[in-house]
Amino acid sequence: MTLPLLKGGKDAANYVGRFAPSPTGPLHFGSLLTAVATYCDARSHNGRWLVRIEDTDIPRIYPGSEAHILRCIDAFGFIPDEEIIFQKDRLDLYENVLAELQAQDLVYACQCTRKMLGSNHIYQDNCRNLQLPFANQAIRLKVADVEICFTDRLQGQHCSALKRDLGDFVLKRRDGIINYQLAVVVDDYLQGVTHVVRGADLLDNTERQIYLGALLGYPRLDYMHLPLAMNDQGQKLSKQNLAQALDINQAPQLLQQAIHALQQPKVDTDHPEIMLAQAIEQWDVSRIPHQIELQGHYL
Ligand code: GLU
Repeated sequence: MTLPLLKGGKDAANYVGRFAPSPTGPLHFGSLLTAVATYCDARSHNGRWLVRIEDTDIPRIYPGSEAHILRCIDAFGFIPDEEIIFQKDRLDLYENVLAELQAQDLVYACQCTRKMLGSNHIYQDNCRNLQLPFANQAIRLKVADVEICFTDRLQGQHCSALKRDLGDFVLKRRDGIINYQLAVVVDDYLQGVTHVVRGADLLDNTERQIYLGALLGYPRLDYMHLPLAMNDQGQKLSKQNLAQALDINQAPQLLQQAIHALQQPKVDTDHPEIMLAQAIEQWDVSRIPHQIELQGHYL
C-alpha cells in the first residue's frame, strides 16, 4: 500500500547516514561509539553524514544537553554535511503524515493506559473499533498480522511478527507528543537517509519502523546495530544509568578508546579531525564484534 505523502525525499545518494541523539541527557561514551561508527561508515562509503537532534519528547529534555551535543560534535572533530536539524521544529511534518494515515484509516484513537495492556505491554486491539475522537487520546497504528524480517549488517537476520510480538503501536501520545517511531521514519525519508547505524538497544524498534516506512511508500533502509558499551553493573551506558558525560577536554583519549572498542586499528595522532580521517581510512566493519554487548566496562 502506498500513500501519496510528502514528496520531500532527497534524490537518493548511494549512502546517507545520520547520528540522531536525543537530548535527554549529555552525550556519553556509548553515544560516542555511535557517532564514530556512523561517521566512519558513511565517509568510508563516500557518503554524506547528517546530525539530527531528536527532541520531540519535550518533558524529557535535559537542560543543557542540546548545547553539550553540539559542543561535542565540534570538539570531537565531526563535520556534518548539512545544517543540524531539530525535530521540535518539524512537528507540522509529522502531523501531516498522521493526517494522511488517518485519511487512509490506518490509525485510531486509543484510551488504553499501559496498565490496561498487561505485563507484556502488547496491545491487543482493545480500542481499534471504538471510533473514539482523536483529540486528547493516544494515536495508534493498525498493524497487520505479518512477519517483518531484515538482515542487519552485524546482528544478522532479525524478525518480528508485528501483531503477535508488538501490537498496534503509538505514533502520538495522549499528551500530544509525537512518538519517536513516527518522527524517525519521516525524517529518515525526508533527509534521504539510506543507512541507519545505531545501538543494538534499538534493534527491536526496527521492524515497526520498516513496517511504517513501507505503509508510507518510503524506500527500505540498510541497518547496522552496534554492540552496546556496558558499565560495571552490567547495564548499558545510558543517561538513566548516569553514564559519565563526554568531556570535551579529553576528546583525543575518548576517540582513541571508541576506535579501540569498535576493534578498529589504532590511529597515530591526537588531533580529533585527523584521528577520524585515519579511522575512516582504516574502517573495517568486519572487525566490529557481532554481539549485543561489548566486552569490558565503560564509564
Ligand atoms: N534518538 C535515538 C537515541 O538517542 C536514536 C534514534 C535512531 O538512531 O534511530 O537513542
